[in-house]
Amino acid sequence: MFQDTIAGIATAMGEGAISIIRVSGKDAISITNKLLNGRDLHKAQSHTINYGFIYNPETGEKVDEVLISVMRAPRTFTAEDVVEINCHGGILVTNKILELLLVAGARVADPGEFTKRAFLNGRIDLAQAESIMDIIHAKSEQSLSLALNGLDGRISRLIKEMREEILNIIANIEVNIDYPEYDDVEEMTSELLLPLSMKIREKMIKLLETAKTGQILRDGIKTAIIGRPNVGKSSLLNQLMREEKAIVTDIAGTTRDTVEGYINVGGLTLNLIDTAGIRETTDIVEAIGVEKSKKILSEAQLILLVLNNNEPLTDQDRQLLKLTDEKKRIIILNKTDLESNIERNEIPNYIETSMVLDEGIELLENSIKEMFELGEIGSTDMTYISNARHIAKLKQALTSLEDAIEAMKIGMLVDMVEIDIKNAWHILGEILGEDIGDALLDELFSKFCLGK
Ligand code: GDP
Ligand code: ZN
Repeated sequence: MFQDTIAGIATAMGEGAISIIRVSGKDAISITNKLLNGRDLHKAQSHTINYGFIYNPETGEKVDEVLISVMRAPRTFTAEDVVEINCHGGILVTNKILELLLVAGARVADPGEFTKRAFLNGRIDLAQAESIMDIIHAKSEQSLSLALNGLDGRISRLIKEMREEILNIIANIEVNIDYPEYDDVEEMTSELLLPLSMKIREKMIKLLETAKTGQILRDGIKTAIIGRPNVGKSSLLNQLMREEKAIVTDIAGTTRDTVEGYINVGGLTLNLIDTAGIRETTDIVEAIGVEKSKKILSEAQLILLVLNNNEPLTDQDRQLLKLTDEKKRIIILNKTDLESNIERNEIPNYIETSMVLDEGIELLENSIKEMFELGEIGSTDMTYISNARHIAKLKQALTSLEDAIEAMKIGMLVDMVEIDIKNAWHILGEILGEDIGDALLDELFSKFCLGK
């Protein structure tokens, strides 16, 4: 299908032990051959790893000692001939080999282009391609297994099933239109098509119900830990991390004063907002200003508000209590190992903790799980829909189907009904990447990393 052969560095750039340069396309093998000083990989069996050396064809100079995987179409990642060169991991060597491949006739791959080819060559559908991106960006065990299920085609299978059932309805309508001798249209719609449509509607709703949990599993719960200075925010964070052997998997500054970090706590991923503020023992409201903290609070799906049991409530405590009043919030009454001086009757529903005695953390975790109805998140057998694009499309398809159902109920002409039904079928197809526009495809795949 594609005339050109692409090449890209598939491993992270930096000084690793090895780097992998991937070449894909109809000339992948002959282009690589040009760097092998007469050796012919066409003679290698498919799906073998071959030891050898890369040479600069112009100077004859040896560039690196390598292992070369040869995989012939169609049983490869892109469904094209694929060669993967495992070289020593230095930036210089890796770039040099890529450069030589480009001189030998390959074109440098765009981000996500290998995966895009896998999709366009029909090896995976679009939902599966998007799962590959999710695997790369997975932040927790859950989001990883979710993504693996996606690559495995679970969502795709459910969507395909729905489409087949919709197609069945369309076929019934068409038969009715084509053979007017069965012209008791009304009877057919109410007795046959309506129950079928309702059944599909139920399936769509059921899958959509998994979206909330799916997105939480995928992206974590956006959490802000707030409280005035010295109440124990940093201690709480450390406790969450240490106690559950959680790891901070990613702390990357997005802007100078907002830092996000992910911690995995007992099967939950908390996507912490403004970790920097917490770490520096600074008070969120004072340090970054009321406007900014309001913004953080509005972005948060969960607020952990920490109060100090040992001291009476301050104005600032009251302000924070009020500010978070309507949010999903857990109030943490910390330092319960010390004398209680706080006005407990003024505080709604709180959890008592002592970071010193290591008490209350489990309770906290359980409340979070309860709050987000994550009772059975351990079970990855369930299929969750978690990709925002898929969710949006599924909602659209549901709306169309419901329009059709309404039309059936009031006895509209069957070809009017058919328009909405066909629309639902079409929209579901977009989840799988059917009839999807080039612009959207480019946008989706450009979010991938280079070499993927
Ligand atoms: P932050 O400013 O809100 O982040 O508060 P820190 O976590 O830095 O804690 C402030 C001080 O309170 C430190 O000296 C902690 O050791 C202490 N602290 C935190 N939690 C507790 C607790 O549960 N009991 C007692 N007694 N001290 C605590
Ligand atoms: Zn702190």
